[in-house]
Amino acid sequence: MSPKRFFLICLLLLLCVQALLPHSGHAAEQSDTRYEDRMNLYKKTETLTNVPWYYLAAVDTYERGLRKALRDRDEEKGLISIFYSPSQWAGATNPDLDDSNPLSISIFGGVGMDGDGDGIADRFNDADLLFTFAHFLEKYGFKEEDMRIALWEYYKREQSVNIVQSHAKTYKAFGTLDLHEHSFVMPLHANYSYRSTWGAKRGWGGRRIHEGTDLFAGYGVPIQSTSYGTVELIGWNNYGGWRVGIRDLDNIYHYYAHLSGFEKGIKKGDVVKPGQVVGYCGSSGYGKPGTQGKFPPHLHYGMYRDNGVTEWSFDPYPLLKSWERQAYKNKKKS
Ligand SMILES: [Zn+2]
Repeated sequence: MSPKRFFLICLLLLLCVQALLPHSGHAAEQSDTRYEDRMNLYKKTETLTNVPWYYLAAVDTYERGLRKALRDRDEEKGLISIFYSPSQWAGATNPDLDDSNPLSISIFGGVGMDGDGDGIADRFNDADLLFTFAHFLEKYGFKEEDMRIALWEYYKREQSVNIVQSHAKTYKAFGTLDLHEHSFVMPLHANYSYRSTWGAKRGWGGRRIHEGTDLFAGYGVPIQSTSYGTVELIGWNNYGGWRVGIRDLDNIYHYYAHLSGFEKGIKKGDVVKPGQVVGYCGSSGYGKPGTQGKFPPHLHYGMYRDNGVTEWSFDPYPLLKSWERQAYKNKKKS
């Protein structure tokens, strides 16, 4: 083959591949059908095992967040993010770690099961994966306390159990998987200002770097949840003053600090949605409960990602900017 011809064929192939790849314009549409397909699978597995769909959704969502946080796991190949290593799936003593025969897998003490009835226990098949996990949960019972024990056995970490239970609560409350929208943290008409303050030195409380963005605004400006999720923490903290922590479905903890007060009735465990008022801007903190006025009123907003072992903060500034832009676009449309 002449080099010219080879080049042309390569070009043609490249164009074909590009035509097959998803376009960004279809991204929203695509994720909608993924939500639908996932929901169908959760519900099908619920009828097989009696494990409520929102628990299956919660674990799967938690695992999806872990895959984003951990670099040693590949992106999920199908719809389901729950992960088993080859030796967990096939059994540690199994000479064939790619074994997909349910009988020999169970002989070698592997967990892999056949969920779709084709006689094969495939570690990369969505129905098999989800059924295997649901079967594990099912053995412990279906009350909230039973689920906690099962999840503890699985993760051996209290915070992982808490996050999964918070996801389950959120899914149960809204009855849908499509809960990844965000909104800006204050009303657009409020008089506020902020810039990137990530990593600056803190004024109080030692040598830690500044983990978040400060949004300056007047006393009493409403503070809105930026995400769907549940209230994980609410109350006083010596650094943050009156503060609220909300856990979203990407396993991210949103921290709203220095509030003058909370929205009436809001309490730990409540399910919230984007734009919902959770508290009011203030200057509380840097001292014993009730301390305020040691600095100008502002919202300290922080974001923390969970990786299954620990949590670390990342700069919320670029996300705040994008949510603010989106809020202006939405306003124009309406
Ligand atoms: Zn701050």
